[in-house]
Amino acid sequence: MKYNRTYNFSAGPATMPEEVLEEIRDEMMNYKGSGMCVMEMSHRSKVYQQIIDEAEQDIRDLMSIPDNYKVLFLQGGATLQFSMIPMNLMKNGKAVYIETGAWSKKAIAEAKKVGEVIVAASSKDKNYTYIPDCSDLDIPEDTDYVYICENETIHGVTWNKLPNTKGHVLVSDQSSMFLSKPCNVSDYGVIYGGVQKNIGPAGLAIVIIREDLIRDDLTDLPVYLQYSTHAGAGSMYNTPNCWAIYVCGKVFKYLKKIGGLEAMEKINIEKAKIFYDFLDESKMFVGTVVPEDRSLMNIPFVTGDKDLDAEVIAYTKAAGFENLKGHKSVGGLRASVYNAMPKDGVIALVECLKKFEAEHK
Ligand SMILES: *Cc1c(COP(=O)(O)O)cnc(C)c1O
Repeated sequence: MKYNRTYNFSAGPATMPEEVLEEIRDEMMNYKGSGMCVMEMSHRSKVYQQIIDEAEQDIRDLMSIPDNYKVLFLQGGATLQFSMIPMNLMKNGKAVYIETGAWSKKAIAEAKKVGEVIVAASSKDKNYTYIPDCSDLDIPEDTDYVYICENETIHGVTWNKLPNTKGHVLVSDQSSMFLSKPCNVSDYGVIYGGVQKNIGPAGLAIVIIREDLIRDDLTDLPVYLQYSTHAGAGSMYNTPNCWAIYVCGKVFKYLKKIGGLEAMEKINIEKAKIFYDFLDESKMFVGTVVPEDRSLMNIPFVTGDKDLDAEVIAYTKAAGFENLKGHKSVGGLRASVYNAMPKDGVIALVECLKKFEAEHK
């Protein structure tokens, strides 16, 4: 393997396309004749303005984002959005949340500090191993929005069919599935995510928000917490995360080059299938999620025996596969197979697990 890099199955920060890392390396000392590294640049400079403008245009192209949506590059990670969303979107002080795992649960806890939260459906009864039926939810008329975490990074469930919001605004946390497949942006009021799972370096959240949801009457809210502040300043009210925006821009260009989100989805389906087929055939390993709601990105699996799980993790690590330990709330193992995980990495991991199974019959 070039550079002697490991196959990194981390849930985030996570693996990135090698080609992008090489480009960044090549531009490190002197970005396109500017005489400096992007890390050293003023965010008010012409050269940086072009970087952020291109990044915005490229994600707009990739996701076909309609003109009446703003794209914001914010700090505070996805976590700050757990608070900013209710603070900005709760006009009537009421929102519906669907509880499908650790990340929606965290969002619910924060929203409760701001207003009334109705948990209209939950899969807690089976430790978040499925997506509840949301085709006919009880949604009060004055609900400000319906909130989902579209891919639960820890529990490994994903929404294949969006909930019926009955005409209400849909808000989605796409952190761990951002740009993994085509997305019909106009189905949503807000899409957001931290970029360190499926796109780039940590420290940046991207918020795609329909313009009519950006309010300018929230003068009591700290200025930094208002979407209008950032929308009005082109994501440069203060110094943005210049570096992360630059790197994400590179990833957007890379995705466009390989054929966009349709092409990416095809590869992701292929990779996930290789892994799930293995799990379904294995006599030792079991996927924890019901087949219909399995994530393409995060695959939790167990042997059913804690000591054996630990043995597998040590075995894979020794064989050059990193970060396969499952989250403590699920246990076992988890393979995160984001966009940038090559198919060869998935095949190699499956071979390694098969070998382990054969040796431990
Ligand atoms: C990681 C993650 C978050 C939190 O992201 P930060 O950027 O660390 O705040 C939120 N939601 C989901 C689905 C995640 O995977």
